[in-house]
Amino acid sequence: MHNRMMAHTVRNDLSEHHPLTPNEFREHGHALIDWIATYRETIEERAVSRIIEPGAIRAALPKAPPRQAEPVSDIMADFESILLPGVMHWQHPAFFGFFPSNVELSSVLGDLLSTGLGMVGISWEASPALTELEETCVDWLRQMLGLSPAWRGAIQESASASTLIAIVCARERYSNYAFAQGGIRQSAEPGMVYTSARAHSSVGKTAMIAGFGMNHIRIVPTEPGGSLDAKVLRAMINEDIARGARPAAIIATTGATADTALDNIDAVADVANEWGIWLHVDAAMGGASMLLPECRSGWEGIERADSIVVSPNKWLGAAFDSSILLVRDHEHLTKVLGTCPSYLRTPTDGKVTQLRDWSIPTGRRFRALKLWFLIREQGVDGLSKRIRRDLVNARRLAQLVEAEPEWRVMNKITLQTVCVRHEPPGMSGAELDAHTRAWVQALNESGKAYLTAAKVDNAWMARVSIGVLGTEWHHIEKLWTDMRVHTAQHARLALAA
Ligand code: PLP
Repeated sequence: MHNRMMAHTVRNDLSEHHPLTPNEFREHGHALIDWIATYRETIEERAVSRIIEPGAIRAALPKAPPRQAEPVSDIMADFESILLPGVMHWQHPAFFGFFPSNVELSSVLGDLLSTGLGMVGISWEASPALTELEETCVDWLRQMLGLSPAWRGAIQESASASTLIAIVCARERYSNYAFAQGGIRQSAEPGMVYTSARAHSSVGKTAMIAGFGMNHIRIVPTEPGGSLDAKVLRAMINEDIARGARPAAIIATTGATADTALDNIDAVADVANEWGIWLHVDAAMGGASMLLPECRSGWEGIERADSIVVSPNKWLGAAFDSSILLVRDHEHLTKVLGTCPSYLRTPTDGKVTQLRDWSIPTGRRFRALKLWFLIREQGVDGLSKRIRRDLVNARRLAQLVEAEPEWRVMNKITLQTVCVRHEPPGMSGAELDAHTRAWVQALNESGKAYLTAAKVDNAWMARVSIGVLGTEWHHIEKLWTDMRVHTAQHARLALAA
């Protein structure tokens, strides 16, 4: 795919620095864009993933960095021969693993432009356009999700970083800024964090980083359908208050990672508002569906939350990293995270937004460009149409699975993920779990598709996460055929053993 014809000047004069000239960059850049375009055009010819030996790629790479400059064409050739075999093709239409991490090509252009400009937004003055485009795009997204103007936000590195900031804000609210001043010794009345077993692992991790400690995270059981049980939540909070602890944060989820369960935000908000507890809604994955008015009942009560994370770098189509944290009380957020060292003071202080006060890093890339390119090039209608297509496809697949003997749909179809199990007669418990994991693994090894298995309520299931940009109904039909072939083979092997 790659053409090695590009000219290269031999650079062996160690006394001089030779940057890649704009002209050389132009040549290599054109070739690279060509490479990416061909990669996307022909992606279906590839296996979705290839199982390679751990360490094989590292072994093929030089142990030490090169002393001498090397031609870009050689680097690219090594990328193809050494690295590409170890790349999982997330943009492949038969990729049904984890979650869709769509990267529309318009968003690639915005991302490339950001990198090419090479600026760092450490203050408004450091690049006013960076700040003001980010404010605009975040506000566009707010409107696209049907949220009121009370919400303001910023782009963060990841959903985990967004949740960390939300939990730190919760900590400073319940402690009246005591932790920010006194640090971890402010623990006479331990603060508690509540979430469901369906919540993403980042909730526990960020609560731990924020100083709550794993012992102060309460896992609230779920109701049938996977929604956090608000009655049990209330009872747990009463119990904790009675023993001298203080409720600090509740993390609800709109679109749980394993099975896309939706917490009942309204019911959880009733509890949160009763005690003034910070309510953070992790809609990293599910948030994209709120583009569609018909989906918004899935987070009814959202206006009563304190913070929300939505990651356009998942289903929506913006290149990673593009996770948006929205808050209602932005003055509290900037009080907690704000800094103003002498070297960053400017005459515009107080008149403009300083995005460093909205996130953990001081600097930021011109990340809004990739959202701006995406939203403008697709339009809200284009994005909505694609999300709607995926929701319809998930329901169609669930119907096919339900109608097939020995197959079961394990989750309520709330979004684009269908959790399924093949249940051969006479197989249950650990044997059924082993069968599920084995056929998923075999299908993945075939390279025909990629799925992830996950454990929900103590049972392993195969997750079919639909929603890659190029995934149409015929890809799902083919997957369904492949799934039946692989399960039949594995069931025969398991029963013969
Ligand atoms: N929250 C949910 C619901 C997720 O599904 C995920 C990732 O799958 C995350 C958070 C973590 O996202 P990130 O990798 O951006 O931190």
